[in-house]
Amino acid sequence: MALYTLDSRQVAAGVKGREFSAEEYIYQLLERIEKVEPKVNAFVSVSKEALDEARVIDKKIRDGEQVGALAGVAVSIKDNICTKGIKTTCASKMLETFVPPYDATVVKRLRDVGAIVIGKVNLDEFAMGSTTEFSRYGATRNPWDVSRVPGGSSGGSAASVAALECTVSLGSDTGGSVRCPASFCSTVGLKPTYGLISRYGLVSYANSIEQIGPIGRTVSDVVLVLNAIAGADENDHTTVGGKPAHSLRQRKGLRVGFVREFIEGAEPRVAKVIHKAADTLAKQGCGCEETSLASVQYALASYYTIAMAEASSNLARYDNVRYGFDLDPEGYEWNSYFAKARSNFGEEVKRRVIVGSYVLSSGYYGKYYLKAQQVRSLIKRELKALFKKYDILIGPTMPILPFEIGEKIADPLRMYLVDINTVVANLAGMPAMSVPAGFTDGLPVGLQIMADEFQEQTMLDAAYLFEQAAKVQRSPDL
Ligand code: GLN
Repeated sequence: MALYTLDSRQVAAGVKGREFSAEEYIYQLLERIEKVEPKVNAFVSVSKEALDEARVIDKKIRDGEQVGALAGVAVSIKDNICTKGIKTTCASKMLETFVPPYDATVVKRLRDVGAIVIGKVNLDEFAMGSTTEFSRYGATRNPWDVSRVPGGSSGGSAASVAALECTVSLGSDTGGSVRCPASFCSTVGLKPTYGLISRYGLVSYANSIEQIGPIGRTVSDVVLVLNAIAGADENDHTTVGGKPAHSLRQRKGLRVGFVREFIEGAEPRVAKVIHKAADTLAKQGCGCEETSLASVQYALASYYTIAMAEASSNLARYDNVRYGFDLDPEGYEWNSYFAKARSNFGEEVKRRVIVGSYVLSSGYYGKYYLKAQQVRSLIKRELKALFKKYDILIGPTMPILPFEIGEKIADPLRMYLVDINTVVANLAGMPAMSVPAGFTDGLPVGLQIMADEFQEQTMLDAAYLFEQAAKVQRSPDL
C-alpha cells in the first residue's frame, strides 16, 4: 500500500490502529523523497531523526500510551521556521550555518501531538518572492510541470505536499506566500487571522502582516494542523484567544461575494475556472453575487512599501557576527566588514533593504510609509463593510497560471504584480485560503476564499463545501 498518498487523518488513524507502523510510513516517504527530489528540489535538508522519531511513536502505541491527533504524520517545515538542532537557513548564505537552539512554537506544538518533522523545505531567500527561484539552493520545480515555478515563497512546502513527499507542511504568508504556492501546486493553503498563530521562531520578514500557515492536500489536513498550532502563546504577545477547535462541517446557504477586482485582471483561462467554481458554490445553495473592493488598486503599492520597510529593519541584524558564515574579520574595520558581509544577500533581498531604508528615511516617511499605512486602514474598513453583507469573498488566488522558470525573475515589478489578490488579506489582518479549483491545460488554478477576522470556521465551511462538490484532487505524474 502506498502510505505516502494518505491524508493526515488516515495516517494518524492507521498508526494508532496499528494497521501500519509510523516507521513503515516514514520509510516509504524517505524512499519517495529520494525518487522525486532530483526532479522537484523541494527540500533544503531531510531529517536524519525522522525514522527514530517514528519508532518512538510506534513504541508508545504498543505500550498503550497516549499519542496525539497527528501521531506519526510527516510534516515538512519551511526553512525560515526554527527547528531545534536542524539547520534553518532562510535559503540565504547569511544563515547557511545557523542551527537554532530551540523549536518555534508551531514546531513544538506539532511535535506535542505526535507529528514528525521530515525535513526543511525551500523558499525564496528570507521569504521574499513569489516563485522559489531566489534561493541559495536552486529553484524548486512545480510537480505538475517541472519546467514551471511552484509559486512562492513557500514553494518547497507546497511542492513537497503535492509531490507526495510529506503529508502536510508549514509555510509563512506575508503577502501570499502560503496561498500562491498552494494555488500553483493544487494544494490547500491557509493564512490565518493575524494573531491566531504564534510567530515565535519564525524568522521575521515583515512582522506586522505575516503569519505561519498550514498546507495540505485536503481541507481536512489543514484543519488538523491548524488546530494543533493555533492559539495564544506567551512568547508572542500578538497572539490572542484560547485554543480554537475548527471542524469539518456541512454548511449550506453561505453568502458569497465574488470580487470583481480580483477577477478583472485574471488571465481568461484562469477566470473561466473561477467562474465555474462560483457556479459550483451557487449550486450548493450559496447566494453568490458580484461585488466590488475598490481599494484593491492601492493594495500592491501599500503592501510592498510596508513589507520592504519592515524588511530593511528586520534584516539589519544580519551582521555576520552573532551568526553567519565564515568571513575572517582580519584587515577590516567595522563598517567595511559589515558591508562586505552583507554583500552576500541575494539581489532581491538587497533591493528590498535599499528601497525599505529609503521609504523610512526622514523626509520620505510621510510620503510613502505613512500613506501605505493609511491605505491599509482603508482596505480594512472596506472589507469590514463587505463582511456585513457576505460571509466570504472569493476570486482567483493567482491571476495567472504557473509560469516557466526564469520567465519573470529578471523583472521585479512584473513579479510583484502577481501578488495583487493575496496581499489584501495580509494588509487587513484577515484570514484567507486557497483551495484547488481545477485545471486548465494541465495546470492548477486555485480559488481564494477570504473571511472576516477570526472567522476561519466560516472560511473552512466554504472550502469544505467546495472541495466535496468540485472533487478536483489528483496526483501529479512524477
Ligand atoms: N511575494 C510576496 C513578496 O515577495 C509575498 C511573500 C511572502 O508572503 N512571504 O513579498
